[in-house]
Amino acid sequence: MTNGELRSLAYGYGFARAYFLPLPDFVRHDDEPSIVWEASEYPWAEVSLLLVSAYRPYPEGCRIPAYYIASNASYHASVALCRELETRGVECARRELPIKQLVLKYGVGSPCRNSLVSLPGLGTRVVFQSLLLGSSREHPFAAESYEAVNEPCGACRACAAACPAGAIGEDGLDVKKCMRYYMDGADYPDWVYGVQRTHMGCEVCQAVCPRNAGIGFEEPPEDIRLAFDLNGLAEGNTKQARLLVGKNFTGRGKLTKEAVNFLKRDGKES
Ligand code: SF4
Ligand code: SF4
Repeated sequence: MTNGELRSLAYGYGFARAYFLPLPDFVRHDDEPSIVWEASEYPWAEVSLLLVSAYRPYPEGCRIPAYYIASNASYHASVALCRELETRGVECARRELPIKQLVLKYGVGSPCRNSLVSLPGLGTRVVFQSLLLGSSREHPFAAESYEAVNEPCGACRACAAACPAGAIGEDGLDVKKCMRYYMDGADYPDWVYGVQRTHMGCEVCQAVCPRNAGIGFEEPPEDIRLAFDLNGLAEGNTKQARLLVGKNFTGRGKLTKEAVNFLKRDGKES
């Protein structure tokens, strides 16, 4: 299997892009300190494969998190792709990598004032997955070079103006002011419950970003709409929603607490 054949296979699994990059050449990066890369763990690995899923957000006012639904589907697609590669004799492993640093270092995307990265044609409405690949005579994978992209934000301050938490300043994102910082747990500070607009996160800065202007919106399908019915979630019926967004992110009654809060803010307490 070649790079091109693997790329075609990845498209078949729903990925929009596949970038073949070198392995990280650092152990830990200040911008992604939670990810530690130890090349010695994978002595056979020669290439980082960044898989990109693209998604369209739901219309303004919809509280269903399009990103997390896309992220969960993307995760499962990467698991299935990795399995297929293994059955075809490819050395392969899913491994969390410092994706942002790889994207910027190899010119795949541009840095954004809100700390995300933007890819040409896809904006920031993307989900990344990362695989490690070995290379062999039968499967001679190799890192590729890409025409470097670097489109700075310039004079734009749209995200800073729109952020309900005041988390974006001249120097970029103040992580601890961003709502996303608090989303790993099930209980958020009161101020987050006061300004949160979508379940499990916040996409306000992406909604106003001109990089995403051409991507548009789509209505959530009926099954997803039903799974995120606020009254149902508030009563504890979270099973379908949790399957859609991934159980790891939604334990300890998180969706129910959010739904109760949204209903309260809407004056529709159940
Ligand atoms: S995700 Fe929300 S809280 Fe965080 S920077 Fe963007 S708009 Fe602000
Ligand atoms: S809204 Fe403007 S400043 Fe913010 S990330 Fe997008 S382009 Fe950059």
